[in-house]
Amino acid sequence: MEGLIIVCNSTPLSATPFERETPFEFSSKPLKPKISFNKTHDPVVSIKLDSRVTDAHLNYLCKNGRLEEAIAALDSIAQRGSKVRPHTFARLIQSCIDANSIHLGRKLHKHIGLLSEIDPFTETKLVSMYAKCGSLDDARMVFDGMRQRNLYTWSAMIGACSRERRWREVIGLFFSMMEDGFVPDDFLFPKILQACGNCGDVETGKLIHSIVIRSGLSCENRVSNSILAVYAKCGRLTSARRFFEKMEGKDKVSWNSIISGYCLKGEIEEARQVFYLMRKDGIEPSLVTWNILMTSYNQLGNCELAMEVIKEMKSFGITPDVITWTSMIAGLAQNNRTTQALELFTEMLLAGVEPNGITLTTAISACAPLKALREGMEFHSVAVKMGYAEDVLVGNSLIDMYSKCGKLEAAQEVFDTILEKDVYTWNSMIGGYCQAGYCGKAHDLFMNMQGSNVAPNVITWNVMIMGYMLSGAEDQAMDLFDRMEKDGNIKRDAASWNSLIAGYLQNGQKNKALEIFRKMQSLFVRPNSVTILSLLPACENLVAAKKVKEIHGCVLRRNLESDLSVANSLIDSYAKSGNIIHSRNIFDRMSTKDIITWNTLIAGFVLHGCSRAALDLFDQMKKAGFKPNRGTFVSIISAWGLAGMVDEGKRVFSSMIEDYYVLPCMEHCLAMVNLLGRSGRLEEAIEFVENMPIEPDFSVWSALLTAGRFHGNSRLAVYAGERLLQLKPGNASIQRFVLQTYALCGISEDSLNLRMPGKGNETKESTGWSWIEVKNMVHDFVAGDQSKPNSGILYSWIRSIAGQIWGPDPHDGLCIEEEEKEEICGVHSEKLAIAFALIGSPQASQSIRIVKNLKICGDCHRMAKFISKIYRCEIYLSDSACLHHFKGGHCSCRDYW
Ligand SMILES: [Zn+2]
Ligand SMILES: [Zn+2]
Repeated sequence: MEGLIIVCNSTPLSATPFERETPFEFSSKPLKPKISFNKTHDPVVSIKLDSRVTDAHLNYLCKNGRLEEAIAALDSIAQRGSKVRPHTFARLIQSCIDANSIHLGRKLHKHIGLLSEIDPFTETKLVSMYAKCGSLDDARMVFDGMRQRNLYTWSAMIGACSRERRWREVIGLFFSMMEDGFVPDDFLFPKILQACGNCGDVETGKLIHSIVIRSGLSCENRVSNSILAVYAKCGRLTSARRFFEKMEGKDKVSWNSIISGYCLKGEIEEARQVFYLMRKDGIEPSLVTWNILMTSYNQLGNCELAMEVIKEMKSFGITPDVITWTSMIAGLAQNNRTTQALELFTEMLLAGVEPNGITLTTAISACAPLKALREGMEFHSVAVKMGYAEDVLVGNSLIDMYSKCGKLEAAQEVFDTILEKDVYTWNSMIGGYCQAGYCGKAHDLFMNMQGSNVAPNVITWNVMIMGYMLSGAEDQAMDLFDRMEKDGNIKRDAASWNSLIAGYLQNGQKNKALEIFRKMQSLFVRPNSVTILSLLPACENLVAAKKVKEIHGCVLRRNLESDLSVANSLIDSYAKSGNIIHSRNIFDRMSTKDIITWNTLIAGFVLHGCSRAALDLFDQMKKAGFKPNRGTFVSIISAWGLAGMVDEGKRVFSSMIEDYYVLPCMEHCLAMVNLLGRSGRLEEAIEFVENMPIEPDFSVWSALLTAGRFHGNSRLAVYAGERLLQLKPGNASIQRFVLQTYALCGISEDSLNLRMPGKGNETKESTGWSWIEVKNMVHDFVAGDQSKPNSGILYSWIRSIAGQIWGPDPHDGLCIEEEEKEEICGVHSEKLAIAFALIGSPQASQSIRIVKNLKICGDCHRMAKFISKIYRCEIYLSDSACLHHFKGGHCSCRDYW
C-alpha cells in the first residue's frame, strides 16, 4: 500500500501522518468530514485507503490518551461506511480497559460493525473489557453470543467470574468448556479448583483430580496445591492428608493448606502436629502459616492461645503483619474483650503497622453491640487520619456504631461523607433511624434511596417494616409489607414475615403474631429458626401449651430441630408451659448439646420441683465434660433447697466460688435464702443476707419475708417487710403485709410512716386474676367473678369442696397474703378457674393449667391439693412466685412459695 496517493481536498498528507505535530482530526460530528473522498473513485481502493488513515488516526489518539475523541470519531467513520482493522479495534478495547471506562467500552462495542469480520480474538477482548470494567453480566452476554470460542475466551470468562467470586458460575463454565472439547490448562485448573473449594463442591474437585492425573498435569505444583486445597477446605481431611502425603515437592503453600484444613475443622491439635512436622521437614513456617494458626485459635474463642502464637512467632524472628493484628483484634472483640482489643489497636500503631480498612471496620464493628462510643470515636478519628473517611466499608461500620450508640447525627454525618454508598450504607442509616423510632426520617431516606443509583433490597424493606412495627404503626408496616412485591418488585423472604411477627410480639399482640405465623405457612413461606426463636418465648406459659406443640410441629416439618438454639428454646418453652416430659424427650434426642441445653433442662426440672432429676442431670453434665456456669449453680442450689438438703446446697455455693471462680450474683443469693428459709434455718438466712457481698435487692428481702411468714416468725416478717417498704414505698401489697404483721404482733400502725398509695393503684395491684385454656379458648376469671354462665353452680361446688377440707392450715401461724382475703374481695379467681375446668365445661380436663397474676393464698393452695387428690387430676398453676404442680394431694413447691 506504500506510495498510494491519497485524494483529499484539504492539505495533502505526508506518508506518516501520525508523526506530524498537528495531525488532522476527525470531527466527532459526522456532518462535515475534513477529508472527503472522490465519489467516482474505485470503492475498494478508497475503503482500503480510508481504513489505513482511520487506523493511523485512531492509534494516534489512543496513544495520546485521547480515547474519548477516538471513540467519538467512530460515528463519522461508520457513517462513511469505512472499516476499522481488528488490531486497531482491539487496541481501542484495551484503552477502555486501561481507562476503566465501561461507558466508553459500551460505545465502542456498539461500533463492532466497523470490523469487516468479527473474530474470536476481538470478542474475547470485549469479554475481558466488560469483566474488568465491572459488568460481568455484559461480559457473559458477549461470551454467550460468540459462535466460536478458544481457550483464551474460556480463560477470560472463567477468570472474570473467579475475580467476582461467582464460584458456581465458574464450575458451570468448566463443565460447558469440557463439553465444547476444551481442557483447562495449568493456569485455569487452579481457578476452577478454587471455586470448588469455596463453594464446597468436593465432587467436581474429585473429577478434576482424575482429569489432572490423566492429562499429566499432576506434577504441576500449582495444580496439585489447588487439589489439596479443595479437600482441605471441604473438610475432607482424610483425602487431603492422603493426597498431601503422596505429593512430591511439597512447598509452603501445601503445608499451609493442610494446616488450614485442620484449623477450619477446629482440629487445632492436629494442625499443631503438622506444623511441627513442617519444621522437621526443613520448611520454616512463614508469616502465613503463623497467621493461620493464630486466627484459628481466635475463631475457637481461645484468645490466650492466639496471643501465645504471636509471641512464639516473634521468637522465630517473624514480625506480625496487618493480618496478624487484625485477626487478633477481631478475636478479642468477638469475645467481648473490647478494651483489650482497643489496647491492641494502639499497640499496633506503636509497632508501626498501619491498619487497613478491614482492621478499622473490625474494630469499629466491635464497639457497636457494646455501645462503646468513646472507643468508637477514637477509631473514627484514626480512620480519618489514615484517609479512610470516605471508605464505604469503614463508613458503614461507623454508621452502625453511631446508630447503636444513639448518635444519629454523627451517623448521618458519616453517611453524607461516603461518596460511593452501597446498599449497606443506606440500610445501616435507615436501620439506625428506625431503631431510634424516627420512622419519618427513615422513610424520607427510603424514598431518597429509590431515586439514587442504589436500589432498595429486601433488607431495606424489612428494616422499614420492622421500624414501623416497633413504633406501633402497624398499618404502615402492613402497607409496606403488601406493597413490597407489587411496587418494590422485591420478593418477600422469611425475614419480611419475621419482622411482622417480631413487631406484633413486641407490641404484646401474641395472637396476631401467631396468626401471621400461620398465614406464612399457608402461603408456603418456610419459617426459619429466627421465626421459631422469636415465637417460642411468647408461648412460655401454662395457657399456651398447645401453641408450643403447634410450633414444634412446624420445627419438625422444616427440619429445624437440629438447630441447637431452636432445640434449646423448645426445651425451655415446653418446661415453662408445663410439659417437662416433652422437654426431656427433645433433650434425649439431641445429638449435640451445649451448656445452654443442660442448663435449660436442669432449670426446667427445678421449676417443676423435680430436684432429684435436676441433680442427676447435673452429674451427667459434669461427666459429659461440661463445666457448670452461673446459671447451672442457681438451679443446683435451688434443687438442694427443694430437696431440703441445706448442707449440700451450702457446699455447692462455696464450691462455686472456690473451685469454679464464679462470683455469686443476686440469683445465687436468692437461691441461698430460699434454701435456708425452706428448712427453717432463719438465723442463718438473716446472717447470710446481712453478709451478702452485694446489696440485697427486692427479691432477696421478699424471700426472707416468705421465710418468716412460712415459719410463723413475725419478727423476721416485720424486719423483711420494712426493708421491702423502704425499697418500694408505694407498693400496696407490701404495705398490707406490713400492716397485717403489725396487727399480729401488736405494733401500732403509726410507728411506720406509711405513704399511702392512691386508692385506684391499690385495687389494681391487689386484684387477683386467673387465666385458663379450655378447648383452644382462654377464659379469664377475677376474684368474686359472677359474670360467667353457671356461676351459681361453680360457687356451690366450691363451697361443698371447702366443706370437705379439714386439718390444720400450715399458714395459720402468720396469715398474711398478697391478695385480699376472700371475705373482702370474694372467692379467689383460681378456685373459679378450677371449678370451671372440672364442672363448668362440657368435658372435664384431666390436666388443668392456670396462670395467676398474684401469689396463690394458703387456702386456695390447700384446696387445689385436695381437688387434685379426690378428682385424680393434675393442676398446674403458675403464680407470681413459682409453678405449682398439684397431683395426688401434693404440690411440687412442697408447700413453700
Ligand atoms: Zn386464694
Ligand atoms: Zn404449691
